[in-house]
Amino acid sequence: MSVLQFPEQPNTSGAYYGTCPKCRKSDGFLNIGRDLWSHCDQHQTKWFIGKNLFSDSEQETWSDWQRNGEKLENYTEIEPYYGKEAGNV
Ligand SMILES: [Zn+2]
Repeated sequence: MSVLQFPEQPNTSGAYYGTCPKCRKSDGFLNIGRDLWSHCDQHQTKWFIGKNLFSDSEQETWSDWQRNGEKLENYTEIEPYYGKEAGNV
């Protein structure tokens, strides 16, 4: 698996990077090349986080990125939720 963990756990949890607006959760992060996405598997939503955020991505391979890309290909890109109650619904 190439789901990355936070190097340090921010006290705002997923709210900082946004969460699924439907369930207010996140199923982690996926790198596709230098692009970092977060996603919700239950609702098949995804939202863009940014580029070059985690140096761990240097250890990933093209096959990882291709697999991540195929996973998110069918997900719907949405505007994430940034509220405080993330993950507690
Ligand atoms: Zn969701």
